[in-house]
Amino acid sequence: MHTSALKLIDSNLPEKWQEILSDLITDPKELLQFLELDETKLALGSDALGQFSLKVPRPFAKRIRKGDWNDPLLRQVWPDLLEETSGPKDSPDPLSERSFNPIQGLLHKYHGRALLTAASYCAVHCRYCFRRHFNYENNSPSREEWGIVLKYLAEDTSIEEAIFSGGDPLALSDRQLAWLIDQVSEISHISTLRIHTRLPIVIPQRVTSKLIRILTESRLKSVMVVHCNHAQELDEQTKAGLSTLAANGIIMLNQSVVLSKVNDKPQILIELSRALFSCDVLPYYLHLPDRVSGTTHFQVTKRYALEILGEVQRQLPGYLVPTLVQEEAGESSKTRLV
Ligand SMILES: *Cc1c(COP(=O)(O)O)cnc(C)c1O
Ligand code: SF4
Repeated sequence: MHTSALKLIDSNLPEKWQEILSDLITDPKELLQFLELDETKLALGSDALGQFSLKVPRPFAKRIRKGDWNDPLLRQVWPDLLEETSGPKDSPDPLSERSFNPIQGLLHKYHGRALLTAASYCAVHCRYCFRRHFNYENNSPSREEWGIVLKYLAEDTSIEEAIFSGGDPLALSDRQLAWLIDQVSEISHISTLRIHTRLPIVIPQRVTSKLIRILTESRLKSVMVVHCNHAQELDEQTKAGLSTLAANGIIMLNQSVVLSKVNDKPQILIELSRALFSCDVLPYYLHLPDRVSGTTHFQVTKRYALEILGEVQRQLPGYLVPTLVQEEAGESSKTRLV
């Protein structure tokens, strides 16, 4: 473990991250002031903002370059006017998730793994998110309702892996998280717990010794898939948190989305893979953006994405090359494009 990582864990007081989470930047004007950007140039999609609010954690805002409208981190969180012009193929629910959502809080599409929408909210609102139209409020079960999900998991012995997704499952308090992990670990045919989260990236203070204890004390093997799209998201504190998780035996992977004018250049993805590797995280998936309404300006064609990845592959060892995937409704797995 890096010594800086040890210090980080000591200085991450248990409740600090919750303070940060309850004090997000939600006012576009405040964000612009903080970033020293000219309000008169503000191309704000007010309707888009109404549908999917602005949410930027302060530790993430600090990594955005001041005075630069083209910053790749800003682009991921800024509610642009362009969100209001959807392309013809874009739909509010491109993956037909609603039809795979027979029980509140559960998505069971693929063999052997079931996804639990463990939390109903995120710490950050990513403008390209395919779940931006998902009805989370109806998908945050109470403890009684979790009983139905857990019964489903217990009755289907083909399920070996429980995936906590969301929303962002690490937005749950440690108590709620520990309770849910505990419940899942009582199901004997489940051996793996996977957590899909962006929290350790956007609020590195979330990585506390308590969180690590919850994950390492469980009988389940833990896999964490973080979500980072650009090396600029990985400042020193974030890297220290990720390598601490890895040093505690949690398998650390990253998924990204290839996004126009954010990371759609081979060099950017190469730097991202190297930065992730430097803090013990391996690239997992690189998603082609889903065709969700409001995200046309992020779209990258399949052909172009393949070209970029070809170049990444020429320059990096195989284990630093993510798998380019696309999610298609009705398929039995994600579709690999390479
Ligand atoms: C992406 C996804 C998974 C996980 O798929 P892997 O290929 O195992 O990463 C599981 N369930 C649902 C509903 C998903 O969308
Ligand atoms: S953190 Fe994940 S689920 Fe939440 S808005 Fe971003 S991409 Fe979507």
